Amino acid sequence: MRVAIIGAGPSGLACALELQRLGIKPVIFERYHRVGHPVERVDMLLHLAWLPVKDQLDHLARKCGFYLHPLAPLRSIVMHSPGHQAVIRSPRLGYLLSRGRSPLSIENQMAAGLSSPVVFETIADPQDLAREFDWVVVATGDSKPARQLGLWQEYSNVVIKGALVLGQFDPHTFHMFWDTRYAGHSYGYLAPFDRGRASIHLCVGGIKPEEMDDYWELFLEAEKLHYHTIETYEQQFHCGRITRHQVGNILLVGNSGGFVSNLLGLGLFPGMISGVLAARAIAGNDDYERLVKPLTRRINELNELRSKLDKLDNHGLDRLVGILGMPGIKHLIYHSGLDIIPKIYTILSGFNKLTFRTPSAHPRHH
Ligand SMILES: Cc1cc2nc3c(=O)[nH]c(=O)nc-3n(C[C@H](O)[C@H](O)[C@H](O)COP(=O)(O)OP(=O)(O)OC[C@H]3O[C@@H](n4cnc5c(N)ncnc54)[C@H](O)[C@@H]3O)c2cc1C
Repeated sequence: MRVAIIGAGPSGLACALELQRLGIKPVIFERYHRVGHPVERVDMLLHLAWLPVKDQLDHLARKCGFYLHPLAPLRSIVMHSPGHQAVIRSPRLGYLLSRGRSPLSIENQMAAGLSSPVVFETIADPQDLAREFDWVVVATGDSKPARQLGLWQEYSNVVIKGALVLGQFDPHTFHMFWDTRYAGHSYGYLAPFDRGRASIHLCVGGIKPEEMDDYWELFLEAEKLHYHTIETYEQQFHCGRITRHQVGNILLVGNSGGFVSNLLGLGLFPGMISGVLAARAIAGNDDYERLVKPLTRRINELNELRSKLDKLDNHGLDRLVGILGMPGIKHLIYHSGLDIIPKIYTILSGFNKLTFRTPSAHPRHH
């Protein structure tokens, strides 16, 4: 059986490794000259997001045979809103992982297990390959193939700016920043590689790329993120949903298949799982749509929560962060082991303190 995989990111590599395990050697096409995006960054795995899976790295090891090393366990999340700060501490919040060109990155750790060929510096087209191969797995990390196949429904277009910075950091702490003045409905965050390096990101929906620098400056100023910057980059990210994940012999996985939640852009774990499921569908002649249903259901739940949080203005964000920092609520969300994501908004609004106005980002009126 001839299988092509387009994209050597985490989702494409997860598919390739699972196919290898099942006795099929795919051919992988990658646009860059090596595995791993040219930019280095830190991604977070948040255990709460993909319950009933309690530990995503443990799950990937036990169920998929991927033994991946994090940079560090995530032990604390500091949430900043304009007038509040809440600190969540727990030994088991999740993990911080390296992404991109680093040899320690998740992509490069996975690529070490490859025995299948990778054709580098090749921009592959799904429909061309579909004529040549029995199966084509699309793992390009973008919405373009789904658009071309007429499967994409856009929610929003987010501009992202990231920076690699030097300073002093706690390697187990992730900082989240919410303020509608510089982020609109979105957010900023700081994630450490180690004690001396971190990546900082700002995501802003509904703006033009050329507007980003104003928002970025306001973000750094408002949050006092005055670090030595090594490099910066910008990219656009399309959030949306996909109506089907398979068209003929083409299967869409990872970001290309819409397996990323709008809530904090969490897509690493569901992306890899979708890659594994695509491999199992191909090798076992199984129904891919059926296999990915639990994942899409969960993504819809997270997206639903995100669309409700979008209604909060800065006053509402302050209240939200205040409530999330209350001991009883913290325990319920982070320590009880209960899957309260689908109910979290109802619980929070039970406090009857959240206000709902339409926020907009206005960097010049700060
Ligand atoms: C700034 C940022 C921060 C994020 N933070 C988190 C986080 O903290 N936690 C989390 O869970 N998720 C996070 N995500 C989402 C997560 O990174 C993605 O869901 C995950 O990378 C999806 O993996 P993928 O393999 O589907 O796509 P990608 O990682 O984008 O990989 C796609 C690969 O395909 C290649 N490619 C693209 N087009 C072609 C083509 N035509 N031909 C050949 N090769 C091609 C690319 O070069 C790349 O190697 C973040 C995303 C961004 C943008």
